[in-house]
Amino acid sequence: MKTIIIGGGIMGLAAAWGLTRDGNHIELFEQGPLPNPLGSSVDQHRLIRHPYGDYVGYARMIDHAFAAWDLLWSDLGAKHYAPTGMLALTGNGETWAERSARTLAAIGKPMEELDLAELPRRFPQLSATGVERAFWTASGGVLFAQDIVAGLARHLARQPAVTLRPGTRVRSVDLDRAHIVTDTGTEHQADCIVVSAGAWVNRLLPATKGRLVPSRQVVVYFDIPDSDRALWAKGPMIIDKAGDVGLYLVPPAAGRGLKVGDHDFSRSGDPDGPREAAPSDVAPLLARCHDLLRGYDKWRIEQLKVCFYTVTEDERFVVEKLGRQGWVMSPCSGHGFKFGALMGLELARTIANERDPTQHARWAAGLEGALAT
Ligand SMILES: Cc1cc2nc3c(=O)[nH]c(=O)nc-3n(C[C@H](O)[C@H](O)[C@H](O)COP(=O)(O)OP(=O)(O)OC[C@H]3O[C@@H](n4cnc5c(N)ncnc54)[C@H](O)[C@@H]3O)c2cc1C
Repeated sequence: MKTIIIGGGIMGLAAAWGLTRDGNHIELFEQGPLPNPLGSSVDQHRLIRHPYGDYVGYARMIDHAFAAWDLLWSDLGAKHYAPTGMLALTGNGETWAERSARTLAAIGKPMEELDLAELPRRFPQLSATGVERAFWTASGGVLFAQDIVAGLARHLARQPAVTLRPGTRVRSVDLDRAHIVTDTGTEHQADCIVVSAGAWVNRLLPATKGRLVPSRQVVVYFDIPDSDRALWAKGPMIIDKAGDVGLYLVPPAAGRGLKVGDHDFSRSGDPDGPREAAPSDVAPLLARCHDLLRGYDKWRIEQLKVCFYTVTEDERFVVEKLGRQGWVMSPCSGHGFKFGALMGLELARTIANERDPTQHARWAAGLEGALAT
C-alpha cells in the first residue's frame, strides 16, 4: 500500500514512521525544507505532562504517548527528552490545577499538593505572588522538538520504501481518488492520503475552514544570568494560572533556552505573513514573569518567536477520515506535539488494518479509551 503525506511536521513525519514500520510505501511532500522552521513543530522544545484539567482522555493517553516516544528513541538510536517534573500553580479564581489533580487522582496518578510555606525552600527561583495552591508531579518533561523532527526526517530518508519531497508544495488534493497536484503541476497517485498541513490545512481542505482556525502565538526566550540559569536548568516546567494570564515556563534543560509562553489563542494571522513580534504583543505575559520569577529584573529578552498552530473550539484534536481515501490529521490547539509519536503510530495502524475511522476520530479527540491493536 502507498500513502501520500502532505506536510512534514511532527504529525506527517510520525505517520510516515508508523506506516513504514509496517512495510508500507510513503511519498511525503513538504512545501519548505524538511523540517520547515515555519512549522509548529520546529522550536527548541515542547512539553509533555500528565495534568490535563478535565480532559481525562488526554490525561490517560500520556502513558501511551511516553511508550510511543520510547519506541521512537529506540528506532532513532537517540533520546530527545529531559525529565523535569511539573509544578502547577493556581489562584485568582482559576481552578485548572485543582481540576487536573482531581482528574489524575481519579485515574490513580495523584499529584502532591505542596504546603505554600514550602514553596520558597523547594523552588527558590520563584517569588510566586498571588499563588493560592501549588501541586507537584514528578512525571513530565521537555521533548526536544526540533531535534526530534530533524532525527525523524533523517531516519525516514534512509528507508527504501520512503520518498521525501521537500520544497514541493501541494496545490490541490482529491481525497476520493487519492490524487494530488503539486505547484509545478506534477500529479501523484496513492492508495491513501494524509493531510497533516498544520496551520495551512484550510488552503487544501475547504471542509476544515472555520473548524481548524490558524492562530498566531508569540513565545519569549530569555537571556538570564549564569547563576539563575544553573538553578533553572534543574528546575521544573511550570504552569501558572495564578496571574492575569495563564503562563507556561520551559526550563533550560540540557543546554536549551529558557522559554515562556501563554495558552491564550489569538485565533488570527496568516502563517505566510511576516513573523515579527514586539514586547507589547506579550505585555501581560511579561508582567506575570515580573511577579512570578525571582531576579526577573536582570533577565533580558533574547528572542520573540512567532509560531502558528490551528485551534478548535473545544481544543480537541481532529484526526478524521475525509473522502473515500483521505485523512485530515490535525492534533493541535497548542498541545499536540507530546502526542506526535502516538498519533502517527495509531493512524498508521488504523489505515493499514482498516480499523473503524469513527472510533479513531473519537479516540484522537480524547473521548474514547485505547484503540484495539
Ligand atoms: C508556541 C507553541 C508552543 C507549543 N507548545 C506545546 C507543548 O508544550 N506541548 C505540546 O504537546 N504541543 C505544543 N504545541 C503544539 C505542537 O507544536 C503542534 O501541535 C504540532 O507541532 C503540530 O504539528 P503538525 O505536524 O500538525 O504541524 P506543523 O509542524 O506546522 O507541520 C505542518 C507542515 O505542513 C507543511 N505544509 C503545509 N501545507 C503544505 C502544502 N500545501 N504542501 C506541502 N507541505 C505543506 C508545512 O510547511 C509544515 O511544515 C505548541 C505549539 C506552538 C506553536
